[in-house]
Amino acid sequence: MTAGTEAVAALFGRAFGSAPAGFWRAPGRVNLIGEHTDYNDGFVLPFAIDRATTVAVTLRDDSRIRLVSTFDGVVVESDLDRVRRRDFDGWAAYPLGVLWAIGEHTGRAPERGFDVAVDSDVPVGAGLSSSAAIEMAVAVALNDLLGLGLTRADLARIGRRAENIAVGAPTGIMDQSASVFGQADAAVFLDCRTLAVEQVPLGFDAAGLVLLVIDTKVEHQHATGGYRDRREACERGAAAMGVPALRDLTIDDLPRAQQHLDPVTYRRVKHIVTEDARVLASVAALKAGDLHRFGTLMDASHVSMRDDFEISVPQLDAVVETAQAAGAIGARMTGGGFGGCAIALVHAQDAEPLAERVRQVFADHGWHEPVPFTVRPSDGAGAV
Ligand code: ADP
Ligand code: MG
Repeated sequence: MTAGTEAVAALFGRAFGSAPAGFWRAPGRVNLIGEHTDYNDGFVLPFAIDRATTVAVTLRDDSRIRLVSTFDGVVVESDLDRVRRRDFDGWAAYPLGVLWAIGEHTGRAPERGFDVAVDSDVPVGAGLSSSAAIEMAVAVALNDLLGLGLTRADLARIGRRAENIAVGAPTGIMDQSASVFGQADAAVFLDCRTLAVEQVPLGFDAAGLVLLVIDTKVEHQHATGGYRDRREACERGAAAMGVPALRDLTIDDLPRAQQHLDPVTYRRVKHIVTEDARVLASVAALKAGDLHRFGTLMDASHVSMRDDFEISVPQLDAVVETAQAAGAIGARMTGGGFGGCAIALVHAQDAEPLAERVRQVFADHGWHEPVPFTVRPSDGAGAV
């Protein structure tokens, strides 16, 4: 048994009284650059992190399904018929949603139930996509056990579908793509229009770099409204510019956009157009091994989100400024905005001093204590 499977194996034994057929794992993710570009048919550059969800699974000979998580140790019961009717709720909606989406995708509902135990060290709700991790861990397990022969791209689509029906939100496919296509020391460059994926070597290991994530613990109540408002502004901007999506505009179109659009819509459009360009420039810089160029693009991304897209908050700005003052290669807020996490690319030995400095700055302001931790770009989902 490898490290990481003990807890889930023990839980499986306690809950179901047997040993599982196997173990599968899928990581969470962090987005390096490319924010709010996904729903504009643009580009994102996440990587799979070294924190994952592990599942222990056994197929059953009947139609029952039993699920248990180390989160609460309570066994949840379901069956294939309820899954077909999409009758599920709570956390089990994620794994059961995956089963439902597999049936929809393959045109053939699975005929065997299963027992699954789940353990995870991806923090929930910290912007690292614990939801995609649980979806993709279950998806790779069922793909193997049922011999479905689904591709990684299929599994990502199935996970998105599961999340859409599990939580009823029209989320994109970045999280699932990062979780299945991740590679050690590489980022996942995703074209959100074509869904084309390319792994881009990061070279963090050779350069002695780690990514420090700082969860500001700020949860803004306008996060949902702000997200909807930004989406609408982007749709408005694209319509006014006569393109299907902002992805279809380039930097050269910006002077024309400025003439046509009201100042606020223009700033929203400008962020998306420049952010897409920054993702492409980041991929080029990384391929050329120019990490400092990549760092300046991270910094510029933050300025764009702060000033043009206006989705930062003082805590995120403070992390970024503190990181930059401490000599980080680059720093920016990450995620939807109005709170959540900021990231800083730093030399490994600088991570802890920077984390301490950020804690101090937050204490000086009387802000909630932030939670810093480092992540490394790691392999995507698979059997353990
Ligand atoms: P995140 O940003 O972490 O993806 P979400 O709200 O999208 O946050 O998803 C978190 C939800 O995913 C949890 O509330 C829970 O329902 C489910 N989940 C994630 N990991 C686990 C786990 N190990 N066990 C049970 N449920 C989990
Ligand atoms: Mg999620």
